[in-house]
Amino acid sequence: MKLYELSVADARQKLDNKEISSVELTKSVFERIDEVEPKLDAFITICKESALKEAELADKMISEGKKTPLLGIPVSLKDLICTNGVRTTCASKILENFIPPYDATLVEALKKDGAVITGKVNMDEFAMGSSTENSAFKITKNPWDTKRIPGGSSGGSAVCVAADMSLVSFGSDTGGSIRQPASHCGVTGLKPSYGRVSRYGLVAFASSLDQIGPFTKTVEDAAMVMNTIGFFDPKDSTSFPADTPDYTSFLEKGMKGVKVGIIKEYIDAQGIDPEIAGAINKSVDVFKSLGAEIVEVSLPNTKYAVPAYYVIAPSEASSNLARYDGVRFGTRVETPELIEMYKETRSKGFGAEVKRRIIIGTYALSAGYYDAYYGQAQKVRTLIADDFKKAFEKADILLSPVTPEPPFKLGEKTDDPLTMYLSDIFTISANLAGIPGISVPCGLTKNNLPIGLQLMAPSFEEGRILKAGYNFQCETDFHKKRPVI
Ligand code: GLN
Repeated sequence: MKLYELSVADARQKLDNKEISSVELTKSVFERIDEVEPKLDAFITICKESALKEAELADKMISEGKKTPLLGIPVSLKDLICTNGVRTTCASKILENFIPPYDATLVEALKKDGAVITGKVNMDEFAMGSSTENSAFKITKNPWDTKRIPGGSSGGSAVCVAADMSLVSFGSDTGGSIRQPASHCGVTGLKPSYGRVSRYGLVAFASSLDQIGPFTKTVEDAAMVMNTIGFFDPKDSTSFPADTPDYTSFLEKGMKGVKVGIIKEYIDAQGIDPEIAGAINKSVDVFKSLGAEIVEVSLPNTKYAVPAYYVIAPSEASSNLARYDGVRFGTRVETPELIEMYKETRSKGFGAEVKRRIIIGTYALSAGYYDAYYGQAQKVRTLIADDFKKAFEKADILLSPVTPEPPFKLGEKTDDPLTMYLSDIFTISANLAGIPGISVPCGLTKNNLPIGLQLMAPSFEEGRILKAGYNFQCETDFHKKRPVI
């Protein structure tokens, strides 16, 4: 086994026992990057030199007896997480040369823990998309089939972990951007509850929905990572002010008496790929065999989730992205006239999808339309959150597909934004309700493409889905399968 193939848990043991060093592990990861990155295009910025220095430092700390979950572990970051002195582009021309003067709270926590940051990875521009095709710089390919999309918007992160170019990668999820690419690439992807991981230094897309989370090779690794990144941060006014549990304490075997809810509206959903439906049914059987009780729940307002999201998210985006005007942030296109300068800067700096969202959002927020669109969507959001509250009276966790279909071909949906938007029909509701969700590998299609299973829990009950996901991975080996690249 190559070192780059290790999980965090296994690497942790080997590092602590001094069987391997962080420098060896990090070098192995960079060898892997040299080998497969030319075929996959996952990275925007590779930080080899600083990573090797961080690895040396980590080895020193290990020899001094320091013990933290990610000490000496190579990780990568979606390129919308601010890194002091390292370019943070959001995969947009407008931030092509933006070098943040500070670290995101997440990055501070990783550095404090002694993690090794290998680079910044590709994404859909400003996290708007489901395929990573909206990047201004490159198109990331799915390692299982390089003619297909890896999912998005955190496609680079999912690919990094699936192709063993990082042991962990951090992404963000506003409507599905961690869970959907994790599902398409056959890795574990956790979107924590809204407010669980600090958003300070995460470039904002839709502030009431955005959440940072990890891509890992196993659920066990996700729990270890949460112990480093899930804490109250006074710098983020939406951070949850409470102590966090030891997430690894939930990794216990046994599902007896746990009520697993299957969602009526998702079972009846039209357009779901039969191979995905089949894999989900088999996953239900796995939970049954572990002693879980299966109950049916209903989310009657779920059909309004995608429309409500596509009012709320663009509205918040139109307001958040106003700061890229050539004056406060971003690349400026010089023209003699001020208004012309704004127009030129924003026309040339943003890609088509970002402009589409800004236009939709500006319209939805404009005088006379605000109540009809944004106000109405917020009411729908409350109804969706209430549906989940009722469902969690009957069930401890909910189980569903992550995506309606396997990863599609590159270019297949680029001209059809509406079908692209439907990629998230099973994931968006969790963001609207603020609850945690995880995607774990649960099958492969006949064409050898990964299928993911989604587990959801009430807010701040990540422990329940970590436990369920852990039990699922003890019984199955889909998470151990790797693509041949
Ligand atoms: N695909 C969704 C969108 O384009 C979700 C993106 C995300 O979660 N960042 O808005």
